[in-house]
Amino acid sequence: MTDATKTNLLGLTQPELESFFESIGEKRFRAGQVMKWIHHFGVDDFDAMSNIGKALRDKLKACAEIRGPEVVSQDISSDGTRKWVVRVASGSCVETVYIPQGGRGTLCVSSQAGCALDCSFCSTGKQGFNSDLTAAEIIGQVWIANKSFGTVPAKIDRAITNVVMMGMGEPLLNFDNVVAAMNLMMDDLGYGISKRKVTLSTSGVVPMIDKLAQVTDVALALSLHAPNDELRNQLVPINKKYPLDVLLPACRRYIDGLGDKRYLTVEYTLLKGVNDQPEHAAQMIALLKDFPCKINLIPFNPFPFSGYERPSNNAIRRFQDLLHKAGFNVTVRTTRGDDIDAACGQLVGQVQDRTRRSERYIAVRQLSSEAEEPRANNRN
Ligand code: SAH
Ligand code: SF4
Repeated sequence: MTDATKTNLLGLTQPELESFFESIGEKRFRAGQVMKWIHHFGVDDFDAMSNIGKALRDKLKACAEIRGPEVVSQDISSDGTRKWVVRVASGSCVETVYIPQGGRGTLCVSSQAGCALDCSFCSTGKQGFNSDLTAAEIIGQVWIANKSFGTVPAKIDRAITNVVMMGMGEPLLNFDNVVAAMNLMMDDLGYGISKRKVTLSTSGVVPMIDKLAQVTDVALALSLHAPNDELRNQLVPINKKYPLDVLLPACRRYIDGLGDKRYLTVEYTLLKGVNDQPEHAAQMIALLKDFPCKINLIPFNPFPFSGYERPSNNAIRRFQDLLHKAGFNVTVRTTRGDDIDAACGQLVGQVQDRTRRSERYIAVRQLSSEAEEPRANNRN
């Protein structure tokens, strides 16, 4: 159990930790020392912090703690994919998935337990919203994954080279905690991951995209899924509030603000007979013309009672080819971690549904963070 009287240092950014030390009458530089112990060495015991004197360690033990979410299970797939189920303070469980590929190791992190946005093909959405994760619960997923590799210091022997906020939840609806956690991912005293390798994926919460631009320069991914408003309204209901003609300019502003050679990742889940036809590819080509982007096609991962199907491999290839011929950089996400149910749409969710959709509770949730299979030109 979390001790409410103690400050959890795990989710504090450097300035926050400096203020914390000041508030207990200590020097601000202690923040850097403690951050290294926490994030580089995965330490949660103040007594292990050998460059901190006993008096301060005792003081810290009395008023602070280093506590990640509780690990319910950890599985390792034969293909190297790892999956953790962690329990957060609200009682719900969320998943984190690690996907190694080539020299890369991508960690897919959750930001909320459940999601309120109710996209029609997403099992997380079907479970409803339960809770926002705290900054400690978000960065805690990186902390846990990193520790599992036993690679210390984390910064030097990197198992995790990329983080994608593509787990459960809409990260822009848990803005402050997600931003704090991403800052820790990028901080050299945290995980030292480059801003180009931390990606936030959103379904399109337009005002928050502009707000994001003011506080960070991480990579942005947009869950597009439909090339016109009529279809997108059905698949991604938040489109009714923020339609394509306001969404794409917001993404453009964000990307333009990042400077040279940055691009938007466009995620497009292919649903058989729904959005996978040549006419959709043609609309997409027109919509994204001149937009600095890479397109990532995600073949739909079925879950019970979804009502959708995955297109055939031929249909997926045809769609990819059409975009590719029009000059886009297009990848198709491959499924990984099948044997541990870590692939898209296979993850077992245990969200405690507080919303109206309890009758539709489905114990399978989607999480999307498979490796990508590049079949790209060199547009970017
Ligand atoms: N809420 C954010 C972050 C989730 S990322 C967002 O929507 O962008 C997860 C990605 O997988 C999103 O692009 C999502 O739309 C997609 N997805 C959801 N359910 C899926 C399913 N069953 N099969 C394939 N992709 C799915
Ligand atoms: Fe929420 Fe993203 Fe799923 Fe939509 S696709 S319901 S925004 S998690």
